[in-house]
Amino acid sequence: MIAYDLECENGHTFEGWFDNEKEFKKQCQKGLVSCPVCNSTLVTRALSTFGIARHRHQDGGQARVRDPLVQFSKFVQENFEDVGVDFAKEALKIHYGATESRNIRGVSTVQEEETLRSEGVSFFKLPVFSKDKSGEDD
Ligand SMILES: [Zn+2]
Repeated sequence: MIAYDLECENGHTFEGWFDNEKEFKKQCQKGLVSCPVCNSTLVTRALSTFGIARHRHQDGGQARVRDPLVQFSKFVQENFEDVGVDFAKEALKIHYGATESRNIRGVSTVQEEETLRSEGVSFFKLPVFSKDKSGEDD
């Protein structure tokens, strides 16, 4: 079984489990994959955002963290090098000491995520915050 991060035409993201990629495509074509929020069957795979955390202490406490996840995501954006779609490659290089050890962030596919896991690379996943303010559907 593989898990895919999926996104519907209205920008809702959710996770779907399939036997394999072929099965995913087949189910998509048959309209069997639908968004749990709006029931749209126009569903595509979404890229996931990852960051690698290393031990690093920040000086001083930050007062009044309103939304820890958003705050943290901001921290990652400001302090992690953006390697974009090379995330998995860079993460593996760092893991094997082939390149300078540092904090990186980037996007990766579910398949790359599996590779990193099987290689024993520690990473964590952050939710993707959409830039546009889409209204909440009722
Ligand atoms: Zn939707």
